[in-house]
Amino acid sequence: MIPVVIIGGGASGLMLASFLPSKSAIVIESNPKVAAKLLVSGGGRCNVTNEVVSSTNYLGDKDFISNVISQFDQNALLSWCEARGLSLISQKNHQYFCPNSAKEIVSILSKECSKQTVLLNEKVLDINHSHDGFVVQTNKQKIKTMSVVIASGGLSYPILGVSDIGYKLAQNVGHGISKLSPALVGFTLQKEQFFMKELSGSSVGNVEIKVGTKSCRGDLLFAHKGISGPSVLNASLYWEKGSISIDFLPDFRWKSLSGSKKNISTLLPLPKRVIKSLLENLNIPDKTFDGLTKDERDRLFGLQNYSFAPAGTFGYGKAEVTKGGIVTREIDPLTMMSKFEDNLYFIGEVLDVTGELGGYNLQWAFSSAFVCAKALRSKIK
Ligand SMILES: Cc1cc2nc3c(=O)[nH]c(=O)nc-3n(C[C@H](O)[C@H](O)[C@H](O)COP(=O)(O)OP(=O)(O)OC[C@H]3O[C@@H](n4cnc5c(N)ncnc54)[C@H](O)[C@@H]3O)c2cc1C
Repeated sequence: MIPVVIIGGGASGLMLASFLPSKSAIVIESNPKVAAKLLVSGGGRCNVTNEVVSSTNYLGDKDFISNVISQFDQNALLSWCEARGLSLISQKNHQYFCPNSAKEIVSILSKECSKQTVLLNEKVLDINHSHDGFVVQTNKQKIKTMSVVIASGGLSYPILGVSDIGYKLAQNVGHGISKLSPALVGFTLQKEQFFMKELSGSSVGNVEIKVGTKSCRGDLLFAHKGISGPSVLNASLYWEKGSISIDFLPDFRWKSLSGSKKNISTLLPLPKRVIKSLLENLNIPDKTFDGLTKDERDRLFGLQNYSFAPAGTFGYGKAEVTKGGIVTREIDPLTMMSKFEDNLYFIGEVLDVTGELGGYNLQWAFSSAFVCAKALRSKIK
């Protein structure tokens, strides 16, 4: 009997298989190839991790997250890559990327996993108890195993092959699932903000979006469906419904406009097309700052606090991650094992841990895989 069956050959499943002793695991992947998401991640260059990682970068139980990440943190991950000849490159916002392509990390993971059996084009349908472990039922066969690890990911980007099997199997043994929703995703707009759609293709370099008590800084992109870009994706993580507020001009000092003979659209540090449209929609004439009435100035200052309620999000089709998941207080952070079912483990995005944009979700996938591997290794003779 094979000691471990891993459901899912994505980031967490492959990392786990690489940490386990040779020939001790079968990885079952429904796609024709492993790591489909990793290959498209980070715009094709895979944002593997971040120089600064802490539980504040995640939604979920902070103690649980810290506990898991501290056992295999960003420095351990960087060293792991380095030891295999992959020097990750630190870029904007301390994000670490593959130097050329996500294929670099996928090829390392694939090589590391060549010591295990990897079944492709095979879908797990169910798991059942047997007298000495589990029987994993796929669309092709039944596989007996001592331990099952669910690494089947979330529901986002269905085009890359996703399933809800992880949530179903968890529920079958009594686990709770917190509300699932698409996150790290663009916002759709209500009628009043439709003018932004006409700006499709334009972007603003640095905005600050406030959602509740969270502030998300970064680029904002106007898209034909609504608004997107790093600041919006991060804001979507913290948004449930209701208003957000965009500061289109963070750090800008209005005083610098006084006394100038130039029109405000020329002076404000925003792309011409964007500022013209914002002025028009806020009913502010494009003239000198000194020439504006008090009311017009007040509306202009509103560019630093443009509040509106998004209509919704672009949905799972465009979301980088699934917010919510298997309730983590029912999982042991020292082993990733279910507290309800011995020898059943959960790792990666299927859990109720969701990171911000910046490499945090892959760091989570890899850290949770490491913790699980440590526990399994002590059981495999
Ligand atoms: C476009 C995009 C870009 C992203 N970029 C980044 C980034 O740069 N940095 C970052 O940190 N995060 C990024 N993410 C998020 C990150 O890719 C995921 O959080 C991470 O891959 C989750 O790892 P996982 O192992 O839990 O799940 P996955 O990597 O999704 O792997 C799960 C695997 O399980 C398989 N599976 C599902 N059901 C079954 C079944 N029934 N039987 C067999 N196999 C099954 C799936 O096919 C899949 O291969 C991005 C996501 C997307 C969609």
